[in-house]
Amino acid sequence: MNYWWMNTDPEHWNIFDEMAEGGKEPWTARGKEGKYKNYMKRVLPDDRGLCYQTHRAGKLVAELRAVSGLIKRRGEEVVDFELIRFLKPPVPWFAIEAAGIIPPKRIKVIRRQTLFPLTAVQYKGLVGLSGTMKIVLQDLAALKSEESRKEGAPQSRYVNYYERRPELRAAAINYHHTVCQVCGFDFEKVYGDRGAGFIEVHHLRPIATLKRATKIDPKKDMSVVCANCHRMIHRKRDHVLSLSELRKLLNNV
Ligand SMILES: [Zn+2]
Ligand SMILES: [Zn+2]
Repeated sequence: MNYWWMNTDPEHWNIFDEMAEGGKEPWTARGKEGKYKNYMKRVLPDDRGLCYQTHRAGKLVAELRAVSGLIKRRGEEVVDFELIRFLKPPVPWFAIEAAGIIPPKRIKVIRRQTLFPLTAVQYKGLVGLSGTMKIVLQDLAALKSEESRKEGAPQSRYVNYYERRPELRAAAINYHHTVCQVCGFDFEKVYGDRGAGFIEVHHLRPIATLKRATKIDPKKDMSVVCANCHRMIHRKRDHVLSLSELRKLLNNV
């Protein structure tokens, strides 16, 4: 089975208007470059594809399945695709880049209706990123409603901008998974389904040391910690602990 990245320009062909789950549509590679047409020749029935909306949309929105190889129909070379499902939520380019799933050189090749091969690992990683985004958005919404109930609490003491960006959170969880990097706590092991996928995300570089427009690397600059460890890290405003400092405290008790 092959896996494909499928670019579409939503101003030209919007999958949300054109397709429903289970529906089929012919797909044509447009553009002058023969190379892109060659990828079309390699599509086989049952191949999987991820539809990416280019331009201002900039997000992965749907999972598709090829139901034919390249066929000629009314003078056009097409592949018929079936829509398996819309990704809920869609995965914005920013999250894909932060999670490092697509090599950066792919950024330049985004253009109207083109296909690019993906590895199975990349494909599964991208679909998984949508699942992680879903959990992160739910957790952030729960956190927000909890905070709004606290009278007069302006912002949670330890939360910062980067820890709240859903794309960065999802990418951090994608890299570091969901076991506390300080004490090894695993919410799913302790709480079962209720805890599945839950972890807090801690940004390792103090905001004060960040210059404007610094690029955050979720792999190096962010970590995952349980709620207890996260509180302890930020307990003293003037002395935010490093992960290893907190580990030392834990070991000394
Ligand atoms: Zn912990
Ligand atoms: Zn933190």
